[in-house]
Amino acid sequence: MHDHRELGRELGLFGTDPLIGAGLPYWLPDGATLRHTLEEYIRDAERRAGYQHVYSPVLGKRELYELSGHWAHYADDMFPPMDVGGEQFVLRPSLCPHHALIYRSRSRSHRELPLRIAELGGMYRSELSGVLGGLTRVRAIQLNDAHIFCSLDQAAGESAAALELIRRAYADLGISAVRYRLSLPGPGGKYVSDPAMWERASALLTGVLDDSGVPYERAAGEAAFYGPKVDIQIADPAGRESTLSTVQIDLHQPARFGLRYTGPDGAPHRPVMVHRSVVGSMERLVAQLLETHGGAFPGWLAPVQIVVLPVTDAEAEYAERLVRRCTALGLRARSAGTDRGTLGARIRAARLVPYHLVIGGREAADGLASLRLRDGRRPGPLPVDEVLERVAERVGARSAELWEPVPVG
Ligand SMILES: [Zn+2]
Repeated sequence: MHDHRELGRELGLFGTDPLIGAGLPYWLPDGATLRHTLEEYIRDAERRAGYQHVYSPVLGKRELYELSGHWAHYADDMFPPMDVGGEQFVLRPSLCPHHALIYRSRSRSHRELPLRIAELGGMYRSELSGVLGGLTRVRAIQLNDAHIFCSLDQAAGESAAALELIRRAYADLGISAVRYRLSLPGPGGKYVSDPAMWERASALLTGVLDDSGVPYERAAGEAAFYGPKVDIQIADPAGRESTLSTVQIDLHQPARFGLRYTGPDGAPHRPVMVHRSVVGSMERLVAQLLETHGGAFPGWLAPVQIVVLPVTDAEAEYAERLVRRCTALGLRARSAGTDRGTLGARIRAARLVPYHLVIGGREAADGLASLRLRDGRRPGPLPVDEVLERVAERVGARSAELWEPVPVG
């Protein structure tokens, strides 16, 4: 395993500055490219699964969090309120209250349910400077979040579907969970006091986990203040666990916000909120991807997918034209010319780039490229058209395999 902070520096993905503050990383161009790719992937997966995307502001009035229950149960993790013209605003500690208000913005019928509202949005946590490091503990969090408003009958099915989305995303991203945890309340004042509510929500999630067939462990004292959670745990190189993905059943906030829908009987009913995050925060996800892959991302995720290497200056112009062709095809390519050292040194410097196209005199003359893969394979000199077509196919399919041999016969 690898340290994501070192790899982030080597690859030029992100950084920090004391003038911005600890736990507030910025994303450099290649890091932003990686993040865009992940964001597009998850939004696409959500659209296909019937989610609708919204945007909502990263602040809200203090009264909003008093209503949601965050003020009473979660204030220690929140930034203090800001006074503006006699009103108090808070950097939001979660997206749920905004989404509850979007649900409440007009009357809802049972025909609209389940209503799946998704947002990749900012939220904030007032961590102390001493515990912050890299992308794993941050104060500004970009969360892949969603809230499913549904009937009680639909809550188990929606939770199971969210678990399936998580399973597929982990397969596509090449990351693995160390355990599934059913996070239940513990003693103390952190939790909403409503034993019947906890029993009902916990029974629902237990049923979902039992039906899914994944092994899981129960953990008291790890629930959200408003409800139990399924947490999908990952581990860093030191074996420290953290939660990446989560599925939660919430019977508390719908009541606090007075959410309703009109049932088939014409009477008002209270929806359930299923909170879920498929890939967690962009920060923690990128840290985990860096550590899992050692920076050698699957081709579709790599910030630079192709490096073009002219052997001598005579091929420099051909190499630049090739980079422009890759870019026009939607592939992320760069050239590394002789000013960056010997061919061997340039190949080593590009050790994490999936595809190396070496261009000598013969290649430039005949419209070829000598393809080398990051893993050491050398499919050899091939027509440029064929190389680019096959790389684009691998990337488009989000394949974990960089190259497939051409089928014989
Ligand atoms: Zn939520």
